[in-house]
Amino acid sequence: MLPPSPLQLLRHPAALRAGVTLYCKRDDQYAWDPGSPLQGNKVRKLWPLLSRGDGVGRSVVSFGGAFSNHVAALAAAGARLGFSTRLFIRGEPVDNPTLRSAVDHGAELHFLSRTDYRRKDDPLFLRHLGVRASDVVIPEGGSGAESLTYAGKAFSETVDQLGGRPPDHFCLSAGTGGTAAGVIVAAAGTPCTVEVFPALRGDWMGDEISRRLAGYPYNERYRVITAYHFGGYGRFSPDWRLYTPPGAVAKRADIGEEGLPELEPVYTAKLFHGVLDRIRAGVYSPGATIVVLHTGGIY
Ligand SMILES: *Cc1c(COP(=O)(O)O)cnc(C)c1O
Repeated sequence: MLPPSPLQLLRHPAALRAGVTLYCKRDDQYAWDPGSPLQGNKVRKLWPLLSRGDGVGRSVVSFGGAFSNHVAALAAAGARLGFSTRLFIRGEPVDNPTLRSAVDHGAELHFLSRTDYRRKDDPLFLRHLGVRASDVVIPEGGSGAESLTYAGKAFSETVDQLGGRPPDHFCLSAGTGGTAAGVIVAAAGTPCTVEVFPALRGDWMGDEISRRLAGYPYNERYRVITAYHFGGYGRFSPDWRLYTPPGAVAKRADIGEEGLPELEPVYTAKLFHGVLDRIRAGVYSPGATIVVLHTGGIY
């Protein structure tokens, strides 16, 4: 097991002015090896596979978009633990640093048309793709039912780090909503409001999360805040300064705020922008404790 990721107090001027206490839960530092794509919420979500070692000596199959951190993380996990990875990528063949990192870690990539990709949960179609019964199949984004409990540990660690007192608000980004569902389950029975900021456009995330919550006790005070997608997945604010540090795989985004950890543009920059915007708008009561989960994505 990795030690808990740090909980960092952020002395941001907007938080000081609003009288709220703002923390960042640093899951961007949740990794064995600094600089590995196997980091952040992807480690938490892949924990069942990583801890049991049931992929070792077998072939692990999964799915993702061409910029999927999950794809890069799973390939790095295979290289570390000794399983081979076959990754089905949505869309036309492309070359980018994320996919190159996966190939460098020994992954075999197969590109699927968007139409075929939609059939990825159909066992017959998987067999047609050459997936064998002995292969371990991990759902898109690593967001299987098994991963939910482990994704939620970001919340329970935070409560421990706050001396057993849950924060008033726990804010996180969402792609598939798997991490959000895990946090909402982990927060069951607490007075915390979980705020989910989708990185994708649309109003479907609430339904997606409630589908994932079926059968679990969960925190009913969760909210989905759809206003900060910036045009959709992989689209960013024109005001952000985007740059790729030398040797890095993922871009970073400077959103023009002081005292924040480094952010990437796909998820965490949108989340931090959203939370600070809401703090400035007076959404949170003075005295409130707000935790922002930095899900990672930088390597
Ligand atoms: C994958 C990822 C997410 C999305 O997680 P979901 O569980 O799919 O919602 C959020 N932030 C970062 C940095 C990620 O890499």
